[in-house]
Amino acid sequence: MSYILLTNDDGIHHPGLLALKNALTAVGEVVIMAPDHNWSAAGHTKTMHKPLRVKTVTLPDGTPAHASTGAPSDCVALVVLGLLGSRLPDLVVSGINQGANVGQDITYSGTVAAAMEGVISGIPAIAVSLDSFDAQDFAYAAQVGANVARLVLQHGLPPHTLLNVNVPAWPAEQIAGVRVTRLGRRVYRDLLIERLDPRGRPYYWIGGEPPGGAVDETGTDIWALAQGYVSITPLRMDMTEYELLNEVESWLTDWSSG
Ligand code: MN
Repeated sequence: MSYILLTNDDGIHHPGLLALKNALTAVGEVVIMAPDHNWSAAGHTKTMHKPLRVKTVTLPDGTPAHASTGAPSDCVALVVLGLLGSRLPDLVVSGINQGANVGQDITYSGTVAAAMEGVISGIPAIAVSLDSFDAQDFAYAAQVGANVARLVLQHGLPPHTLLNVNVPAWPAEQIAGVRVTRLGRRVYRDLLIERLDPRGRPYYWIGGEPPGGAVDETGTDIWALAQGYVSITPLRMDMTEYELLNEVESWLTDWSSG
């Protein structure tokens, strides 16, 4: 039976994690190692300057799980490095995240970073996100996650690649289907908020409206969600811009004279 490591970035008590666990039990043996608090937008973290602690917890339905003080990517690393034994997971699944992870979000996302940590260690991985910051019905997205998990276990993935899955927060019967997509363009609406502390010194928040995106760019993850499609985006760890290699190389003819 396949061994699936499940984690998330919203914290071990987030209902998206439990929903995905319940769907994944039909696919393999699920072990949970997740952060003990919310790490959304923590990106890819490796905790090196403070100790990590791990405790066992029981989820509301009685499921045993492991909670770590580390980031989502730390959770994956702890298991890969042998905390729960020498057997490596066959698949890392991260989610279900509360909120889409599309376009440039993937560089901020702790959910996607946990999947990246898996593939860096040679383990196939998927990240699953629901496109809503408040929807509490994760059942359909969990089924999607389990279906994609089953497909990855069946077909495998090339080294250093993962699948990033986003699910519209629409009623299941209104979902338009599934599209395999490329990354779209997020439009962030961050605002710098300055306030004064009780001693009159300024402090700052990054505030503003939730991000939008280029919903008209056909074939992207952002477009797919806007159309009511489940989006599956294959990602690779190699971020090299191959088309720029020769261009930057050509700059170097002036290197010594500079
Ligand atoms: Mn999150």
